[in-house]
Amino acid sequence: MREKAEELRSTGQAQRGEIRVEYDLLRRARFSIRFGKLNHCTMDDDDPVGAKCIEDATVPPGHRGPLHDRCRPSRCVNSFGTIDQIPIWRAEHGSLTCLRSTPKIGRDRKASLDDQLRDIEIVLRKVDGS
Ligand code: SF4
Repeated sequence: MREKAEELRSTGQAQRGEIRVEYDLLRRARFSIRFGKLNHCTMDDDDPVGAKCIEDATVPPGHRGPLHDRCRPSRCVNSFGTIDQIPIWRAEHGSLTCLRSTPKIGRDRKASLDDQLRDIEIVLRKVDGS
């Protein structure tokens, strides 16, 4: 299952972002895909290796699956994005860039914004190579 997801990712089929690709993914591989607004998650609940959201997390007793509020699309092997999600990421990049240019912004805050901008750029590169 994980191999099929990896194959689709590596061949770019899962990154081109057509809705047909997403349906193909579901049809051809028997693993769960959690469709999201910002990214999609292919975490295997029985083998969550590489899931960034549960790394160093306090997982509630009895919980299975990802912790979506800790999702790291830029860092997680289980995450893939689609072209229709790009405008959201670009908008976020634009607003953070604008915020970063605010005069007198603190050094720590600027460093934090730089981290966020880098993460967004990684996500964009994963999806469309830009
Ligand atoms: S970090 Fe995001 S993509 Fe990765 S397993 Fe968690 S929810 Fe899924």
